[in-house]
Amino acid sequence: MAYTVPKLDDYSPASLDKAVQELLTALRQEADAIGSENDWKEFRDRWMARKNGILTQVNDLWLKAAPGPSKRDVGGRVNQLKGQVEQAVEAAQQRTSGSSSKARLESERIDITLPGIHPVLGAEHPVIKTMNEIVNVFRAMGYSVAEGPEIETDYFNFEALNFPPNHPARDTQDTLFVAGQEKKQQRDRLLLRTHTSPVQIHAMEKQPPPIRVVVPGKVHRADTADATHSPIFHQVEGLAVDTNITFSDLKGTLDHAMKALFGSNVKTRFYPSFFPFTEPSADVQVTCFKCGGKGCRLCKMSGWIELLGCGMVDPGVFKFVEKNGYDAQKISGFAFGMGVERITMLKYGIDDIQLFYQGDVRFLQQFA
Ligand SMILES: [Zn+2]
Repeated sequence: MAYTVPKLDDYSPASLDKAVQELLTALRQEADAIGSENDWKEFRDRWMARKNGILTQVNDLWLKAAPGPSKRDVGGRVNQLKGQVEQAVEAAQQRTSGSSSKARLESERIDITLPGIHPVLGAEHPVIKTMNEIVNVFRAMGYSVAEGPEIETDYFNFEALNFPPNHPARDTQDTLFVAGQEKKQQRDRLLLRTHTSPVQIHAMEKQPPPIRVVVPGKVHRADTADATHSPIFHQVEGLAVDTNITFSDLKGTLDHAMKALFGSNVKTRFYPSFFPFTEPSADVQVTCFKCGGKGCRLCKMSGWIELLGCGMVDPGVFKFVEKNGYDAQKISGFAFGMGVERITMLKYGIDDIQLFYQGDVRFLQQFA
């Protein structure tokens, strides 16, 4: 049964000793039974509450009720008890808060011997990586980087690049047109750009000569996806226009670029070709990086691999930007363009272009 403060009939030292001992025993027992912070609060209030706490009761029942001659003795004992109760309450608080902070520490314990969590680092996609490598080779030669829209008008994609009105590239078999534009004039019809070359025109409209730009970007063709074709792929285009630019400058620039990309051992050769916006035009071939020119399956036993198209800018193209200082009588220039996927495939020996777009981490990790 819980301790209650008794009324004292007898204020003799022996009776007082007995009453004090009972009280202290109760104090010790109750203090020992405290297990939590809530227990401690109850304990504190039971003993020390101003209103009806045990100390208050002791004060009322023992000290105030004591007859005159005993007051001094009783007062001394009550003061002593007050100090002992305060001490017991304080000690109990330390014990409980100590044990709860210990519990907190226990719950927040970190096992420093566990292995760490390895964050998975991303890496450049092989196509983007190759594209950046190509761009950086030309940046080092003083070219600036230009970009253009992927949705173009017929004017920028074909007309200003000297494509004749009925050129087969304008056929819907080859080019993806935006639907429902039959009422528009041909030059205003929107399409997904089929090459990065329209950016040549944008760049020359923005900036008078001299100009040196390299243009990385995504292009679209109405091709069915197979091992070597994709309806979306990437190109890097280049354009240099200045006074007295010759075909030798073109050859020197591209020869340097191919050596920077594939190693100083590669040789280049230029084969006559045709593009509507360059005259003369050439295909650039480099010595096979697998067999070094001896002939293998990759180069179809020829020892050479065709890598890009190029040529001197056709004076007919300059006519479209004549107002911005591109007078074909005074300036000349060259342009080139290459397919980034094709170069990446050749560089890493990849035989299926679709692997680039399937998002298979096992494939992509090999390039990280
Ligand atoms: Zn070869």
